[in-house]
Amino acid sequence: MRNSIWFLKGLRNGKKTERFPAADPGEPPLWPSVLEGKGEAACPTNALESGEWNAGKCIACRRCVPQYLPTGNQKTYSLSQVAPRLLSRSFYLYQVDSGTCGACNAELLSILSPQYDASRLNIFLTNTPRHADALILMGVYTEGMDEVISKAYEAMPDPKLIIALGTCAISGGVIGKAPVLSSKAVVEIQGCPPSPYTILEAIVEAKGGVK
Ligand code: SF4
Ligand code: SF4
Repeated sequence: MRNSIWFLKGLRNGKKTERFPAADPGEPPLWPSVLEGKGEAACPTNALESGEWNAGKCIACRRCVPQYLPTGNQKTYSLSQVAPRLLSRSFYLYQVDSGTCGACNAELLSILSPQYDASRLNIFLTNTPRHADALILMGVYTEGMDEVISKAYEAMPDPKLIIALGTCAISGGVIGKAPVLSSKAVVEIQGCPPSPYTILEAIVEAKGGVK
């Protein structure tokens, strides 16, 4: 009975998958997005040193409002390297939780939902590092996970990328330091947590576009 309700609801609502990143985001959130502003503001993570907003340290706590305000711009990621061309046709991600609150994990999984449908862009999750093209690191450094992460990375075939997802994995956020392997990350997806739009666009760019 419950299944038939969802089936009928799906028929009534029609196709929900967005065309993003080929088209603009359908419902971009204000938090997290690029912050703009100026002046002094109390920031618990020193993300506003010298009046410059450092997205990799921001935990979206909103203590700097109204001096700094969100713009809705979802481009809160940076890349220092793109995957070799051979990975552009299909891109398999292996996720590791070093010590998260759970929100980065939820946003990453949501890119597979019908709204974003990462598989139409040839992006997939794998549950073994041996089939992975990129290691997605989430959460702060924890002693117990450090060796696990290193072993997962060693088990991945070349060529391989590391993607640090979320403020904890990039800078340690407000409670710790980043996992050791984050220093090798070639893609940083900032946000606490990043929006699915940001995650999807960063991964598409990391794999060299849509083929
Ligand atoms: S929203 Fe970001 S920049 Fe503003 S105070 Fe919080 S951590 Fe600092
Ligand atoms: S970056 Fe923010 S949302 Fe992601 S695990 Fe850390 S505290 Fe949670």
